[in-house]
Amino acid sequence: MCRQIDQAIACRGLLHHRVGHGWTSKAMGIPYACAPAKMAPSKEQRLLLAQVNGVRDFWEEIPSNTNLCYSNPMAQCAFIKGVTEYAANHPEVDYLHVWLADEYNNVCECHSCRSTSLTDQYISLLNEIDSALVQSGISTHIVLLLYQELLWPPVRQKLVHPERFTLMFAPISRTFNRSYSCRGPIPNLMPYRRNQIVLPHTLEENIAFLEAWKAGYDTDSFVYDYPLGRAHYGDLGYHHIARIISSDIKELSSLKLNGYISCQELRAALPNAFPNYVMGRTLWNKNLSFEILEEEYYSALYGSDWSTVKEYLLKLSSLTSCDYFNGIGPRYNPEQAARYKEVEFLSGEFHLYIKQRLDTAEPFRKIFFSLLDYHTEYCILITKALEAQAAGRVSEVPELWNTFMNFIRMHEPEFQPYLDVYRVLEVGTKYTGFSLDIER
Ligand SMILES: [Zn+2]
Repeated sequence: MCRQIDQAIACRGLLHHRVGHGWTSKAMGIPYACAPAKMAPSKEQRLLLAQVNGVRDFWEEIPSNTNLCYSNPMAQCAFIKGVTEYAANHPEVDYLHVWLADEYNNVCECHSCRSTSLTDQYISLLNEIDSALVQSGISTHIVLLLYQELLWPPVRQKLVHPERFTLMFAPISRTFNRSYSCRGPIPNLMPYRRNQIVLPHTLEENIAFLEAWKAGYDTDSFVYDYPLGRAHYGDLGYHHIARIISSDIKELSSLKLNGYISCQELRAALPNAFPNYVMGRTLWNKNLSFEILEEEYYSALYGSDWSTVKEYLLKLSSLTSCDYFNGIGPRYNPEQAARYKEVEFLSGEFHLYIKQRLDTAEPFRKIFFSLLDYHTEYCILITKALEAQAAGRVSEVPELWNTFMNFIRMHEPEFQPYLDVYRVLEVGTKYTGFSLDIER
């Protein structure tokens, strides 16, 4: 599939971006990324790894989430070699992404690494990579990541050839309850504390980091954003998140960002794919009005019923919260609990309406109404669990969440193209506060 995609990119003259995390595990001699290690690190590998809490080991068993001891010359060489060899062997790649390990608060605490900052070490590595590419006559662009610890700009180091680099601002912990267009005054940067950082939630805190980098590098840059990579599960109407996407994209130029990559689930279409539709259309033409896209999309899917469906989904959006599902804010939230209760009631009512429409819908519209039909049941079950949690009735939560999990697992064969069952359950357990499985 990758080769087919490469050909399609080349055929259309698109900019080819590739890679991301994984260079740290490659430097350890482990070619795969994101999976747990099959065995403990060897003695030689251990020397390359970050020392955290006195030990050099894989971070939670995952090599690609493990940082290196970036002051160790052997680790530096292995990292630089991995990137430069890849660039030489892949001239089809225009933009090579060079990111460090994923996860945060897992950087090396050895004496040598402590004498500098992670971002300074990162800039040194990038300068070495740049120098090796210059010597080999390779013009591949390098994407430099502003993410987690790397949100803090370098203190001592500077890029020798900033023109080779594009900044990628990745505000993974940002709120999605508001758009960049609603930002207030930008605060000072929060202080950096090794392995004790707290990720910024507000737009203003996040943008402060972007502006601090931009002050040093007025270079090409874009955002790597996450509306459809977790937060969307919290918006049960998919209308709010679509509006945030539209508004954010229109705001890019005011943030001096030249583009947008969406870090997202590929299957994000329950109750419909309106957020992705808005993203695609608005990235192509940022002057498109959200309301025009709304009418265009909803009327194409639902025919003469479109405004009734839209009003219902709009209401669901106003009652649910991207941030609550994404783990931002207190878990006990009685006001939000009351809103979840209302969703349960509205979805029950709408279920009857949709059942009637399903019988009379034109054949090509049946799928859109059957998605709405399924979505009403999905909403009822997920909001029962969310409502119990937000209301503080913790003893009821495991059974309710379990019922929801079983329901979407059972229906996965029918709705697999529209809902990523694995991902919504992962977010629910890693961020929202639910447990994956309970004893039956
Ligand atoms: Zn170190």
